[in-house]
Amino acid sequence: MWSIYTALVFALVAASRFTPVYVLEFCQSTDPDCHDDTASNSHRSPHTVKSRWNVSVSNLMQDLGQFRVSCKKLIEAFPLDEVDGNFVHAVKNCIFSESTPTPLKGPLRLAAVSKDVIEGILDLDVAVTQSDDFLQYASGGRLMLGSVPLAHRYGGHQFGYWAGQLGDGRAHFLGQYSNRKGEIWELQVKGSGKTPYSRSGDGRAVIRSSVREFLCSEAMHFLGVPTSRAASLIVSEEPVLRDQFYNGNVKTERGAVVLRLAKSWFRIGSLEILAQSGEIDLLRKLLDFVINEHFPSISSSDPDKYLVFYSVVVNETAHLIAQWMSVGFAHGVCNTDNFSLLSITIDYGPFGFMESYNPNFVPNTSDDEGRYSIGAQASVGLFNLEKLLGALSPVLTQKQQKEAKVILKGYVGIYQMRFHQMFKEKLGLLGEEEEDSYIIAFLLKMMEDTQSDFTMTFRQLSEVSVLQLYNRSFTQMWALDNLSLHKHFSDWLKMYLLRVSRQENDTDLDHQNRMKNVNPRYVLRNWMAESAIRKAEMNDFSEVELLHNILSSPFVTQQTAEEAGYAARPPLWANRLKVSCSS
Ligand code: AMP
Ligand code: MG
Repeated sequence: MWSIYTALVFALVAASRFTPVYVLEFCQSTDPDCHDDTASNSHRSPHTVKSRWNVSVSNLMQDLGQFRVSCKKLIEAFPLDEVDGNFVHAVKNCIFSESTPTPLKGPLRLAAVSKDVIEGILDLDVAVTQSDDFLQYASGGRLMLGSVPLAHRYGGHQFGYWAGQLGDGRAHFLGQYSNRKGEIWELQVKGSGKTPYSRSGDGRAVIRSSVREFLCSEAMHFLGVPTSRAASLIVSEEPVLRDQFYNGNVKTERGAVVLRLAKSWFRIGSLEILAQSGEIDLLRKLLDFVINEHFPSISSSDPDKYLVFYSVVVNETAHLIAQWMSVGFAHGVCNTDNFSLLSITIDYGPFGFMESYNPNFVPNTSDDEGRYSIGAQASVGLFNLEKLLGALSPVLTQKQQKEAKVILKGYVGIYQMRFHQMFKEKLGLLGEEEEDSYIIAFLLKMMEDTQSDFTMTFRQLSEVSVLQLYNRSFTQMWALDNLSLHKHFSDWLKMYLLRVSRQENDTDLDHQNRMKNVNPRYVLRNWMAESAIRKAEMNDFSEVELLHNILSSPFVTQQTAEEAGYAARPPLWANRLKVSCSS
C-alpha cells in the first residue's frame, strides 16, 4: 500500500500544482512559531473568531442623521479625475473620480442586515435599519453626512491578459467610518449606478448575485477567513436585464445594492494601472498611502519599504489562499483586480464551496478552461503576485527587484507550509511528525477517488471518537461512510489512529473539540444560496435570514440547520446548478 501511494501522494500535497519549496527571506527561522497565525496581523484562525451577536453593546447611535463618514483623507491624499461628469471615459492621473450613485427605482426593501456589522462596526442600533432613511442611505439614494462618493480607478489582468482600465463600474465609495474601537472602515455601495468606469455595463447588480455576496462575505468572516464585510442588502423594483448564461436568453431581473465594508478596497490592479500608464509619482503616492495606513510595521523612512510591503503581501496572499483551501472555497474570478492589497477576500461573484472533493472543481461556468479551478488558486496567486511585482518594479532599484524575485520564489513554500498547518489542524494533529504530509495527502486522494464531500468528511471525522473510528461505526455519518468504501481506507485509518495515539496529554474530547473548531458543519453551498435566492426574488427573505444566522456560527451544530438539511447529503438538483460571471 505504502509504495502504491507514495508517488502520487507527493504530487498531491495541497491539491496544487507546485513542486519546488523555497524559504521566504523574511521568515528565516525554521521554528514553527515563525509561521504561526499570530505572525499575521489581520488573519485569525477560526478558533479565535467569536460572534459578537451575543455581546450587548450600549450607546449605539439611534439616529442615522448622526452617522458621519469622512472622505477627507483620500481626497486630500490624491488628485481626483479632472474630467467632470459621470460618463465613461479613459481616466488618467488620478486614483478616484467623483461619481454620484443613481438611486434605485421603485419601492426599496431591506432584504438582509448584518447586526454584527451594523452594531459591532458601524456603532448603529440595528433598529435604525428598519427605517426608510436607512433604505436610502444604504442603497446610495441619499448621502450620509460627510460623504463625497467616489469611484476608484484600477486596471487588472483578467484571465491571464492585461485588460486595461477597469475601475469601480458599479460601486461607489461613500466614505471612511472611524468606529468606537478606533478602527477605520471604508463603506461602499455595490450596484449603485454608472460611473466613469462602467464601460458597457449598466452600473447595477441583480438580486441573485447580491444575495450571494451578502451571505458569502458574512459566512467567510465567521469561518475565520479574511474578507470584506456586508452590512445590508436592499432590493428594488428596478428592472435589470441579464443574459445569465450568455446564451441569448435575456431576462428581466431586479436591481439590488449591498452596503459593504473593508479596511481598504485597494487591489493589485490599483497599482497596475499606474505602472502601466507610466504614472510613477502617483504609484509611489498610492503605495506610501497604503503602507502608512495599513502596514504599521513598515517604517515610512525605510529605503526597502516597498520591498518589505511586497514580502508581506506575498506572505499574506499565500496565507489567504491556504485558508480558502481549508474551507473548500473557490473564488471563481481570481483576476488581479479582484486581489486585495490587504489580502482579504473581495468581490464575490461566481464563487463556490466545493462539495465532492475535486482539485479541478471550477465554480464559474464561464471559466471554460478551468483557469480558476480550486486546485489552481495557489498558482494563480503566484501569477497575480508576479503582476504585483511588475507594478512595483518602477519604484524598486535593480537590487530590490532581484530581491523581490527571491521573495516571490518563497511564496510556494509559504503556501505549502500554511496549507500543511491548516490541514494538520483539520485532522487534529499536534506537533510535527514525518508522515503528516502523507496522512493528509492520502486522505485527500481517497476523498477524490470516492468523491467524498469535502466539508462533511472533515466535520464527521471531528465528530467521531477514536473508538468509533476504530470500530468504523459511522451510523448517520454519510460522508465518512462514503469515504470508508475506499479500498485503502483501513490502511489510512490505522496510520491516522496510530499518529493520534502518540499525542500525549490529548484526550479524545480535546481532540474532537479542536477539530470541530476548524471544520465547519455548514458552508454556503450553491444549492442553499439558490434556494434562498429563488425566495428572495419573490420578496420572501426568510431563507436569506436563516442562512445568514446559521452561517454566523458555522462550527456549531444547530437544530434549524439540521432540519433544513444543511449538513445532509446535497439534493440531486444541486448537481445541475450553474453559476456564471453574470451578476
Ligand atoms: P467583476 O467581475 O465583478 O470583478 O467586475 C469586473 C469589472 O467590471 C469591474 O470594473 C466592475 O466594476 C465592472 N462591472 C461588472 N459589472 C458591471 C455592471 N453591471 N456595470 C458596470 N460595470 C460593471
Ligand atoms: Mg471585481
